[in-house]
Order: sequence, then C-alpha cells, then structure tokens
Amino acid sequence: MFPDLTGQLHVREQQGLRRQRAVMTGQQSVRVVIDNRSYLSFCSNDYLGLASHPELIQAACEGARQYGVGAGASHLINGHSMAHHALEQALASFTGFPAALAFSTGYMANMGVITALAGRNDAIFADRLNHASLNEAALLSRARLIRYPHCDTVALERRLAASTCRRKLIVTDAVFSMDGDIAAVNRLIELCEQYDAMLLLDDAHGFGVLGDKGRGILFSPAGGGLHSERIISRVIYMATLGKAAGVFGAFVAAAEEVVETLIQTAKGYIYTTASPPLLAHALLKSLERIENDDWRRDKLYRLIKLLKIELQPLKWQLMPSNTPIQPLVIGKALDTVRVSNSLKDKGILVPAIRQPTVPQGTARLRISLSAVHEEADILFLADALRQIAAVDGVYG
Ligand SMILES: *Cc1c(COP(=O)(O)O)cnc(C)c1O
Repeated sequence: MFPDLTGQLHVREQQGLRRQRAVMTGQQSVRVVIDNRSYLSFCSNDYLGLASHPELIQAACEGARQYGVGAGASHLINGHSMAHHALEQALASFTGFPAALAFSTGYMANMGVITALAGRNDAIFADRLNHASLNEAALLSRARLIRYPHCDTVALERRLAASTCRRKLIVTDAVFSMDGDIAAVNRLIELCEQYDAMLLLDDAHGFGVLGDKGRGILFSPAGGGLHSERIISRVIYMATLGKAAGVFGAFVAAAEEVVETLIQTAKGYIYTTASPPLLAHALLKSLERIENDDWRRDKLYRLIKLLKIELQPLKWQLMPSNTPIQPLVIGKALDTVRVSNSLKDKGILVPAIRQPTVPQGTARLRISLSAVHEEADILFLADALRQIAAVDGVYG
C-alpha cells in the first residue's frame, strides 16, 4: 500500500471532507429507508418522481423479457438494439434536432463529445462552475482549456476575440448543478455566430424540467423558446436520462454530421458495452410521462415558490435559483456537515456540498425538490431548519 494514504484520509476526516455512502434499502423517492429508518429526502435528482413510477417499472420488466438483461456488445459490433434506435429517434424529435445518439452515462457523453470535436490545435471555453465531467474531458482532449468567470459572457467574448485556434468550442452547464442558476444560452449562441464557434450545452438538470413539455433549456425563455436551423448548426445538446427522466443514461442531440462524427470517433461511445436495452425501453415510457405530465412541472414550481417563502426569514440564504436545485449557503464545511447531520437526526436528508465540488467558504445544503414532494414536506423542512438555526452560537 502507498504509505501516505492513511494520513491523507485522516486529514480529510478532520476537515469535514470525508464522504460517506448511505446504504439505501428500497426505491429512490422522497421517502427513503436507510439503516431501517425512514427519511424525508431532498437529495435526489429525480425531479419528476419517475425513478419508481409503476409504469416505468413495468416497462423495464417488459424490456427485460423482450431483450434480456444485457446488450452483450458495443453499439458498433451488435449491441445496438431496436429499443436504443427507437429511443434515439424519439429523443431527436422531442428536442427538435435532426439526430440523437444514446450514451451509457452523461459523464461518458461529455468525454465522448469533447474529445471527438476538440484536439491539440483547438480551444475550449468553459464556465468556471461547469460540471467536473466537462473539465476532465477538456483535459483529456489536449485542447487549450480557457475558463471564464461564471456566466460572464463579456469576459468570454474577450477570450473568444483573442483566440486564433482552429476550432472554438464553448462548453457550459445549462442549469448549474450546485447553484441551480441558468446559463445565458441566447447570448452564447450569438457569440458562437460572431466568433464561428460551437456550443456544447449540458442540460443534465434542465431536460424534463425546463421548457415547453419539459423539452429542456432550448425551449425555455433562457433559450429563446424558439428552435431553428440557427440553433441546430451551432448547438450540441447533451442531457442525462438518470435525473428527471428517472432511469439511466444520456444522449447527445445535434446536426447529422455531428452525430455521425461521434459514432465514428467518440471513444466513450465506441469502446464500451451498450447499455441494457431494457433501459431504453423504460425510457420510451419515461418520455411519454415527461411530455404528457405537465402537472409534475407545475407542482414542482409551486413547491419552489413555497420553499423560498418559508426559508426567507432564516439567517442562511438560498442562492438565486428558479430550478429544483435550491442551495442554502452555510459557509464552512464543518458547519454545513453539522446542519446536515442535525436535519438527519430529525428525519430529513439534505446533502452537504463542500469543496472541491464548490469553492471553499461556500459550503451549502443542496435542497433538491421533486414533483412528488408535498407542501407539508416543505413546511416540515423549513421548521426543522428554523429550530437548528435557533441554537445560538453553534453555527456561524
Ligand atoms: C449528473 C451530471 C452529469 C453526469 O451525468 P451521469 O449520467 O450521471 O453520468 C453531467 N453533467 C452534469 C451537469 C450533471 O449534473
């Protein structure tokens, strides 16, 4: 064993940075069971409450009977099933792009897209708060990684204007995963046109939640609500299927040439076993629910509004976010862990997010809302937080 591992783990522990995995016994939902105890959970990315929806479970079982449990090969050998193919067509049409490609995970999709489209002589312009997978992918691509301050399109423009690189790829989270705020997509597309760049839009947290029928950020006011040739020629749209869609996987939707290039060259697509077709089969059912259940999004937005009102008087502030990601900033990592633990004692799970996931000094409780939460759940959380905040001198 490397002799310094024990010491490093110990330091982590002392700084409140050692992570622990809770072992869940039942289904993912707003009530979860850990160590025989039931908790009200504000942890998951299952924003629409589809992860344990009976229709999806039934579709997964049906899919297993029809396709077996494993794909058995990569897509380019013979693992590409009818279910994958139908899902890709449905996703392309749902998001308004000519073509879509299913990946096993969002992490792999980002790796695949960025390394296939950018190389040594190219430049990647990345928002400072982008998801880790986008940063890792940029490093792996060997392109120049040029980061810009969070959502600062003026600073981005200066960097674009100064670049003489062959290809310019702007990369951003659509909804920022730890802050819940939204990228200025319209402005980013304008900059792409002005500086002959392309935009990789990671809508992991927007797909299913934002826009008309849950079609994602491009169909929301931030994306202009108007989908056109102009967007198709500049945007590579990526979203995950393990969050609001409730299942697993990810996809990229884009122009035909982009998707074909990914099929030919994206290593995270080529050199991996296709995901089980039963998942694609279940995802077709999930898409139906996303498209038809406006009530899930309506309810989610009512709950967000209620949470903001209820937490307003607290000494800790919610970050400005209109998405189901509602971060409550506590500050120090140790304090944040303590508040999170106190909530747990009261039967409520809210994750403490610390460095390196977020900048030091901005540790926060990341409250995630779901359409299957009830108003009473929000009131219960708010009450618990008020009680914890009232314990004087302990936090601050
Ligand atoms: C979750 C997430 C990913 C990774 O997706 P997985 O399917 O979980 O691998 C990528 N980007 C963002 C912004 C995410 O939040």
